[in-house]
Order: sequence, then structure tokens, then C-alpha cells
Amino acid sequence: MTTSEFKKEAYAMVDLMVEYMEHIESYNVKSQVKPKQIINQLPESMPLVGESIELIIKDFKEILMPGITHWQHPNFFAYFQANSSPPSILAEMLTATLGVQGMKWETSPASTELEERVMQWLIQAIGLPSYWQGVIQSTASDSTLNAILTSREQYSSYQINRKGYTENNQYRVYCSEETHSSAEKGAKIAGIGKENVVKISTDGNLSMSPQSLKEHIKRDLDQGYIPLCIIATLGTTGTMAMDPLGEISELSQKHNIWLHIDAAYAGSAFILPEYKYLLKGIDNADSFVFNPHKWLFTNFDCSAYFVKDPEALVRTFAILPEYLKTDSDNHVNNHCDWGIPLGRRFRSLKLWFVIRYYGLTKLQEILRNHIELAKWMEETIDSSNSFELICPRSMNLVCFRWIPVGIESTEQLNELNNELMNALNQSGKLYLTHTKVNGSFALRMSIGQLNVTKHHIKQAYSIIMETASSIKTD
Ligand SMILES: *Cc1c(COP(=O)(O)O)cnc(C)c1O
Repeated sequence: MTTSEFKKEAYAMVDLMVEYMEHIESYNVKSQVKPKQIINQLPESMPLVGESIELIIKDFKEILMPGITHWQHPNFFAYFQANSSPPSILAEMLTATLGVQGMKWETSPASTELEERVMQWLIQAIGLPSYWQGVIQSTASDSTLNAILTSREQYSSYQINRKGYTENNQYRVYCSEETHSSAEKGAKIAGIGKENVVKISTDGNLSMSPQSLKEHIKRDLDQGYIPLCIIATLGTTGTMAMDPLGEISELSQKHNIWLHIDAAYAGSAFILPEYKYLLKGIDNADSFVFNPHKWLFTNFDCSAYFVKDPEALVRTFAILPEYLKTDSDNHVNNHCDWGIPLGRRFRSLKLWFVIRYYGLTKLQEILRNHIELAKWMEETIDSSNSFELICPRSMNLVCFRWIPVGIESTEQLNELNNELMNALNQSGKLYLTHTKVNGSFALRMSIGQLNVTKHHIKQAYSIIMETASSIKTD
């Protein structure tokens, strides 16, 4: 493709992008295709002869678009948002054009040094200890795996990396029953074993019970287990519950256990002074992760991982074959030694664009607006006769259920709420997902899409009410 052909296609692509952004609300939020509907329309073998971009885009529109779920739709309330934003998209265009591998400092010094700088900005904005350092990982799951591996290596004086598991030790990882599944996955991959993930019970707010944690650690120590790592969550995926960091960090400190904090979604909100109290105890923690690709408008993937001691991280991951040796190795950071993959995209560029374009004040304003909208939804549900909150709102997440008159059994309520959720999602008008709270099926409404407004929330509430009233309850 010549540059002049590229220019023509690129301008046309921008038109397509803008058209999508302007008309996003005309799409069904959740894709309604059936399994195999997409793949059956795609040829079984690759083309022998090249095709035009025009034809590829035609097929993109006709074949693929129906199979897209619109994560950037303002009525996307499911899971947690994976927000993109215009400045982030602009930066991605540059990133793709440069096609840089930022694995080592020398392979693109700007990639490494910009990453160091924006991570420091986030450390300040969130209120992490100023001497911590950060690195961008793909996902919170990767970051949590890194924390588990580093805790293991630090404990074994880096001998498991060297020799494999030679002792008959049983290691333990602690987290709550509400912790994200990535903790268990990480423990499996790290060779700790799923059965050595101790799931601590939660209290009324679905946050980890420090008393129970304390008892489990004591019992494990008495029985000869080795406590490696505690994973505390700030903002659980189910209900956005906050584990009590203060008390947990005292235990981790006392027993010298690695404390990793998973704040994948809620972490963004720590740029708001009013939530910083939740970080009390952070000084005693060892690592912290949050995803700017969720609630900080930087499109996937961009997970910000922060550690107290980068030395431990690097000693866990560094590897130096001859072909990767460079003269600068001793006085720069080589981020390929800060995690699993060797190759690294220039992800700091989009974060830099986003932070600079909005500025801290505007980012705070957007998050506060989401939280205000969630508050409105909470109050509206609370004053409704046919709906109830299933737990108090936390930040921008509201969990509620429909309580039709005359229905009392949990089982029936669960079935009806499941039916309501499916009807809502099939309508294409909005998309939300569920969780279970003490056995009760709850609709989860995460209000955090960049362009969501009061109008969307009011409309969502009406659609939920109307859909519920159209469902037969007898
Ligand atoms: C979303 C989420 C994760 C997983 O994030 P990935 O980046 O997709 O791995 C982990 N923990 C919590 C609390 C989450 O909300």
C-alpha cells in the first residue's frame, strides 16, 4: 500500500469511527447472534490473492458488526466498564503506526521513560507511597500472578526459580470468598495449588473478616503451612466491597506475608480525596494493581501495577540471554524484566494522552458524576415498592432485585430476576449482569461509561420497571 493510498483509507477509517461514535446508541448493546453465526460466514481458508480494504470493511460491517457487543454504549452497565475515549484512540493510532517494542530501554527509550513518568503521576494521584514504582501490565490477572510469583521467590530466596520445588512445603495464599477468580488462577499457575488458596469468610458488607483471616493464619502456622501472600480487594467484582486494609495490613506485617491489593476497577476512584481513607494501611502493603482500562478511559489493555520493592520483582523475572544484553543494562529499567512477556506495546502513550487531555480535575469530575448517578439510582430503587437494594451502593455500583407482590421464596425471586435480566439484555436497550448475595440473585448496575448521563439512567430505570411489569409472576 502506498502512503497516498494509506492516507485515503485512513481518512475513510476516521469517518467510519466517527459515524460509529455518533450512532452508537442505535445499536443493541448486547450482541444477539447465535453461536457459529459469525464463523459460518467466514471462508474456511485464507485468501490466496489480496483483497481491497473496501471489501474487508464491507464484510466487517455486514458479518462482524452484528457480533459486536457495544462496550462503549452509554447503556452498558454490565460487568465493569472497559472504557475507551477519544484521546486514547488517537494515541493508539500513533502506537500502531510506530509499532514499537518497548521490551528494553534501548529498544525505545521514550517508551520506558514515559511509562516510568506516568506511573509516578498515578502514584501521586492515587496516594500510594511515593517511593513505590509502577509498570504497565496487560491485565489485573497478570499483575496478581506477578505478585504471587514474587512473594514465592522472595520467601524462597529466589530458589524456586532456580531449582524448582524441591522442598515438601505447602504454601498458602489468602483471599476472601468474594475475591476475583484471578487469585485462584494465579495460585494454580504459580504452582501453589488451588487447594492452598484459603478463602476467608466475609462480614455483613461482604468484605474480608480480619478476625477470620487471623485465625486461619494462626492455624496454618501451627500446622506447618507457609503463608506467602494475602490478596486484599478494594472493590470486589460482585458488589464493590472493600476489604479492611488497615487490619489486614497489620496481620501481613506481623507475620511477614506479602500483601497484594487488587483494586482493578475501584482503584481509579482513589484519585478522589474522599476515598483515600480506604487506603489506610497501604504503607505496609507490597503491591497494588488497578486498571486504567476499566474506569480511567484508557482502552484495553492497560493495567497499572505498583510495587514497593522493584528489586524483588526484577529478581523474579529477569533473564539475560546473550542476544538481549545491552550496554545500558546496569543503569536503566528494562521493563521486560518486570513481568512475564518479553515484547511490550507502547501502552504508556495512550495513558499519557488521556491524563494530559482531561487533566486530574476533569477525571475527578467524571468519576464523581458516575458516583452521583449511582446514588440517584440507589435512592430511586430504595423508594420503589417493586424493587429493593440487595446491599448498599458502593461507589458507582448498585445491586438490586425485583420484588413482585406476593412472591416470597428466594428461589422464585431468583428465577424471576434472572428472567428479568435476560429480557432486559435481549431487548438490546441496555446490558447488565448479575451476582449472588447470600444466595439472592441480584442485578448489578455499574454506572461508569464515559458518556453516560442522567438521561440514560432515568431511561434505564423506566425500561427496567416496564420490563418487570410485563413478566408474568404466577
Ligand atoms: C476486572 C477485575 C479483575 C480482572 O481484571 P483483568 O484485567 O481482566 O484481568 C480482577 N479483579 C477485580 C476486582 C476486577 O474487578
